Amino acid sequence: SSTTVEGVQEWLEGIRHQASTRLGQGKVASYIPALSKQDANRFGIAICTNDGRVYAAGDAREPFSVQSISKVFLLTLSLRVFGNTLWERVGLNPSGMPFNSLIQLEAECGKPRNPFINAGAIVVADSLVSAFATPVQVIQDTARRLSGNSSILIDRDVLASEWKHRSRNAAMAYLTKAFGNINNEVDDVLHTYFACCSLSMNCVDLAVALNYLAADGYSRQAGEQFVEAELARRINSLLFTSGMYDAAGEFAYRVGLPAKSGVGGGIVAIVPGQFSVCAWSPALDDNGNSVVAQYALELLSESLAVSSACA
Ligand code: GLN
Repeated sequence: SSTTVEGVQEWLEGIRHQASTRLGQGKVASYIPALSKQDANRFGIAICTNDGRVYAAGDAREPFSVQSISKVFLLTLSLRVFGNTLWERVGLNPSGMPFNSLIQLEAECGKPRNPFINAGAIVVADSLVSAFATPVQVIQDTARRLSGNSSILIDRDVLASEWKHRSRNAAMAYLTKAFGNINNEVDDVLHTYFACCSLSMNCVDLAVALNYLAADGYSRQAGEQFVEAELARRINSLLFTSGMYDAAGEFAYRVGLPAKSGVGGGIVAIVPGQFSVCAWSPALDDNGNSVVAQYALELLSESLAVSSACA
């Protein structure tokens, strides 16, 4: 049966095999030049179950740029400090717009629609610059502690490349500051935001690190209740409505799980009460979501539905 160790491993290998048929579709991100060097033919997938077992297939231990997946760490840390007062500065609704859109930001007076579009994550980063003397260190330490991998680093090439090509994100940050919703120096806030996006982690690291969202807020790896169960449930709701940007509705239809993507090609998805999963393949669709990772999660979700129907 698929609940044995061999069964789960075989299941993942099957997903890897079928998902790989779509390698070649999509395009590696190039607006951050350091990301354009990625090999589009990579694919990895890893699962971390709530009882602490890890399963991996393909290139699941190859580090990649987490990019927007880091917005989940930023949000969780900020909510731990500020609680619901954060929502005075950031909204809770899907944007229906690309992740780097500026249009709503002006129309809505500098209050970003949600914490997973760039403008929202920049406001969240500002809150962390206010809360911590060394916010980047805090976020890196958190990623290490939650994943159990103490060698996780910020990729300096990616960070330099993001900084050099920061115009659009800088425009968002300055516009937001003009509306009074950024409290610190824009350069400090952008540096914090880009440094987090530039964390290098692999599928196993990310599946383990974000398992607290599947486990009512408890991180088995860190051995602590990282957030209250109530907060984990709420973060999952936001991931469901906004984690895939303007493709959130389409992804919900295809996969039906809370998830967060990044332009490095990674997608983390949560099966509450059961496991967390990270799939990675660098080539993206027009919304900035990995083509093959989305397909792998669709295959995973379909076979979960079938197996629970048989249980
Ligand atoms: N660092 C990227 C940016 O700011 C993150 C975007 C993403 O992964 N969607 O554009």
